[in-house]
Amino acid sequence: MALFSKKDKYIRINPNRSSREVPQAKPEFPDELFSKCPGCKHIIYQKDLGSERICPQCGYTFRISAFERLNLTVDANSFEELFTGIETTDPLDFPNYREKLKKIRAKTGLDEAVLTGIATIDGQTTALGIMDSNFIMASMGTVVGEKITRLFEYATEHQLPVTLFTASGGARMQEGIMSLMQMAKVSAAVRRHSNAGLFYLTVLTDPTTGGVTASFAMEGDIILAETQALIGFAGRRVIETTVREKLPDDFQKAEFLLEHGFVDAIVKRLELRSTIARLLAFHGGKQ
Ligand SMILES: [Zn+2]
Repeated sequence: MALFSKKDKYIRINPNRSSREVPQAKPEFPDELFSKCPGCKHIIYQKDLGSERICPQCGYTFRISAFERLNLTVDANSFEELFTGIETTDPLDFPNYREKLKKIRAKTGLDEAVLTGIATIDGQTTALGIMDSNFIMASMGTVVGEKITRLFEYATEHQLPVTLFTASGGARMQEGIMSLMQMAKVSAAVRRHSNAGLFYLTVLTDPTTGGVTASFAMEGDIILAETQALIGFAGRRVIETTVREKLPDDFQKAEFLLEHGFVDAIVKRLELRSTIARLLAFHGGKQ
């Protein structure tokens, strides 16, 4: 029980980082000029992917950063960031963890693997969370759990829907069992939000795996996914070794999950914004 009663030990608020200007997504192209498309294997000139980062040959959607997602999704200048400056205390004193965090913060402009705040999408107000796989594979540690929990609590208090773009490689190894506790903590906040009659929309993006899939990613009232997104709990090799069977090629792809009823719809990146706005207009008020 001590784990549950001493949560302040695992996180702290850094007052110097408690508010900041949200960096505008730079129309930044990665170091390489060309990328090999995982969809069609063609070599694509980075600029041809455009701000949506879609392969012009086959329509494959490349992974995008939280800021790129923000720019594609919300009304201009409508995003107000919340819950910044929450930091892990590195409870396990994990080797090189602090340095790693410092480096990745500077590189991504994020303070953790999820960006949280409120925004409007085609005029519909929503609490918004966007996970970013560029930040230690969007692994879920105490800060990610805390920020998403606070987002749901804020939305419950202000009677707002929650829209959450999920991505994750799993639990944050560097925080051990404290990472796994976040699944229960966030799920409890989701439940309180739901009990208040409020709408929760999840958009599963590539890749959404591990504890995030096993908790809040799959707790949305409506669950959307991006095309070809990898969605699963354990990895393919782990399952194949355990069940000693070869899995189908499209196993754990969004399309496979749709066929088997785990996902409500797969939405193309170009249609996501209008789809989300429509769903918020239908369901965003108090039910
Ligand atoms: Zn392609």
